[in-house]
Amino acid sequence: MTYLIKPHLHRTYPTVRSAKGIYVYDTDGKKYLDGCSGAVTANLGHGVQEVMMAMNKQAEQVAFVYRSQFTSEAAEKLAEALSQQIGRGTTYWTFLVNSGSEATETAMKIAIQYWQEQGRKGKNKILSRWLSYHGITIGALSLSGHPMRRARFVPLLEDFPTISPPYCFRCPYGLTYPSCQWRCADELETAIVRIGAEHIAAFIAEPIIGAAGAAITPPDGYYERIYDICQRHDILFIADEVMTGLGRTGKMMGLDHWNVQADIIALGKGLGAGYTPIAATLASERVMAPIMNGSGVIMSGHTLSANPLSASVALAVLQYIERHHLVQRAHEIGTYLFTKLQNLQKQFAWIGDVRGKGLLLGIEFVVSGKEMVPSDLAFTDLVVTVAQQKGLLVYPAAAGNGKDGAAIIIAPPLTIEQSQVDELIDLLEQTFREVQRRCPGILKR
Ligand code: PMP
Repeated sequence: MTYLIKPHLHRTYPTVRSAKGIYVYDTDGKKYLDGCSGAVTANLGHGVQEVMMAMNKQAEQVAFVYRSQFTSEAAEKLAEALSQQIGRGTTYWTFLVNSGSEATETAMKIAIQYWQEQGRKGKNKILSRWLSYHGITIGALSLSGHPMRRARFVPLLEDFPTISPPYCFRCPYGLTYPSCQWRCADELETAIVRIGAEHIAAFIAEPIIGAAGAAITPPDGYYERIYDICQRHDILFIADEVMTGLGRTGKMMGLDHWNVQADIIALGKGLGAGYTPIAATLASERVMAPIMNGSGVIMSGHTLSANPLSASVALAVLQYIERHHLVQRAHEIGTYLFTKLQNLQKQFAWIGDVRGKGLLLGIEFVVSGKEMVPSDLAFTDLVVTVAQQKGLLVYPAAAGNGKDGAAIIIAPPLTIEQSQVDELIDLLEQTFREVQRRCPGILKR
């Protein structure tokens, strides 16, 4: 008998016993290679001493104070470190929250407030892309172009997502880069003109699309064009770096691959690296200025926001990333992993695309050519389940049109060694062989 509500109530889940480095162990003694850092979260791997020591030390001093009564050294230092490490010369202010969904909700609110404080109260829509994921709360889900996660709640959602993603593998116009001239980015301008810039506060995008697209990576020049459109129409640009931030893609921030800086940034997942629930919304000095000169209040927040315990953990995580050069490592080892995945693609014709940057890599499956795997086959589920049986954790993702289409994300901890990448690839190959054996009729070639 169980009273715990788990994601799938009809399934049985292994019970975790412990985890160390890139491995997780269950109570039956089975070992799993964490090929996706849980949910692209455990970026340092498990059981890092420095983080546990910081956590212990802070817990002994003070774990919780309410943010409207006290600030803390840990939270102040974390905000300063974030601005220095990700600002590229721009100052960012940090608002601490507890999950990625809260971070994008807060980003929405700050964007709307930025315009309100300047007397432009009509600017309160946020545009986003179809095939995107920004969180599960109603506001964040309204921003998300993720059909499966929206389906049950559509009547409660604002109708926000508007433009196509930069999905070169399935270009909606049938074009190819660079002759496409970023037609998909220009959709933003069309949408702004249609809706009216006077109604729009911001545009939000994941630099590389994660859960809704398995590491859909835009071609160079895309974000420069998007940012230019935002600037010309007086619209803020929010980067949802919950999955891509803090080294995951081989740069400190996902957007650092391109020559653009966001006005507002959402961080989560890798900020606490799974050691604690913590996330953050960062706003540039430019965004903060009218709020500082106006009401001086950010109308958002949660009871546990900015608690010293979580802040101290995130600070230790940031220091660890810097001290162990994990950003560079993610780039190098990610390049190695990418090549290995491309080799697998040559062996299995139903691997349609391998994409991503650093250690955020996606594999999209096809029936043949570019034909989407029909959703009723639950193919992604099958791959994830077989992988877990083989002792490998991979992350399910949507792809195709968000309903049909199957994909997984491979995103091991940034601390993974080269020999462990080989082990991951070996387990993945075994998984694919078994999947092929189980459904020969579906995969045409
Ligand atoms: N934004 C992005 C880009 C994400 O990948 C996620 C989580 N998958 C979220 C927001 C929501 O974060 P959380 O699950 O911590 O609420």
